[in-house]
Amino acid sequence: MTRIAFIGLGNMGSGMCANLCRAGFTVQAFDLVPQAIERAVSDGAHAARSAAEAATGADVVISMLPAGDHVLDLYFGAGRVAEAVAQSVDDAGRPAPLLIDCSTIAVAQAREAFERASAIGLTMLDAPVSGGVAAAGAGSLTFMVGGASDGFQRAQPVFEAMAANVFHAGEAGNGQAAKIANNMLLGVSMIATCEAFHLAEALGLDAQTFFDISSKASGQCWSMTTYCPAPGPVPTAPSNRDYQPGFSVAMMLKDLQLATSAASAHGADVDFGRAAEQAYAALATAGHDQRDFSVPMLALKGEL
Ligand code: NAD
Repeated sequence: MTRIAFIGLGNMGSGMCANLCRAGFTVQAFDLVPQAIERAVSDGAHAARSAAEAATGADVVISMLPAGDHVLDLYFGAGRVAEAVAQSVDDAGRPAPLLIDCSTIAVAQAREAFERASAIGLTMLDAPVSGGVAAAGAGSLTFMVGGASDGFQRAQPVFEAMAANVFHAGEAGNGQAAKIANNMLLGVSMIATCEAFHLAEALGLDAQTFFDISSKASGQCWSMTTYCPAPGPVPTAPSNRDYQPGFSVAMMLKDLQLATSAASAHGADVDFGRAAEQAYAALATAGHDQRDFSVPMLALKGEL
């Protein structure tokens, strides 16, 4: 039976950990917040007193942390997870455990983590997710995975317990590359969708009429049909609950900053991505960082 260490039991990690328990894996859970561990235990996990303790003897280590510095520190710094894993392999002579980081982090940091893990004989995958808190709880996330094919194959049963879709994007860091390129597109398309509804309304169309037409015409996109920023046409969208997230302005800004800095490092022109980053940065600076990322709709209407 595969034994899993799960580290980072926040909004996303708690649901992912619960689904692994439900699928029958033995899970050792750790978070810096004791209440998060208690919740994981009530979902069927075993409590660990530290990340290193959770990782000792594990076949697979999964992390779901806020950002890249946390990830590098967990595995190779104060968290001592890579060291604990390598040590327990030496002691028991078992096959090297798989490290899977599901956090959204910089491509360069994912590649650094992969190199540092490889240097001590460990296989590491970057496996960021799309789908948000609801999909984490429902086990219907999309995983975008970078790293060696054999590691990807070994991880399949673990991904399947948490996922609706799993893609191998290629070498280390490519999962993060897919994630930030996708989310840059999402940020740009959300702002463009807000502007389209704003223009339609200024020209005399109500939101429902414009939605009915554009959702069947060439302007159709996810930001419109699944997450409509104008209240009404899509009842489950955050626009119908005063723009409570959902996916917050702060999270979109984080992903756009990752995208634009990776673009700078690799000489890619992403002018609209940068414009979206500036728009979300302005919203965050104005104190709207915890509202849903469809809130530019309210700003355009002068209601923020
Ligand atoms: P979160 O802040 O709710 O959870 C992060 C958890 O990590 C917290 O419980 C925190 O206590 C814990 N943590 C931090 N450092 C730790 C350490 N050293 N050891 C153990 N635990 C530690 O964040 P989240 O919303 O769950 O997001 C996690 C990651 O997933 C982020 O990288 C985010 O960008 C990404 N993501 C989030 C969403 C979303 O909708 N929330 C969607 C896709 C991707």
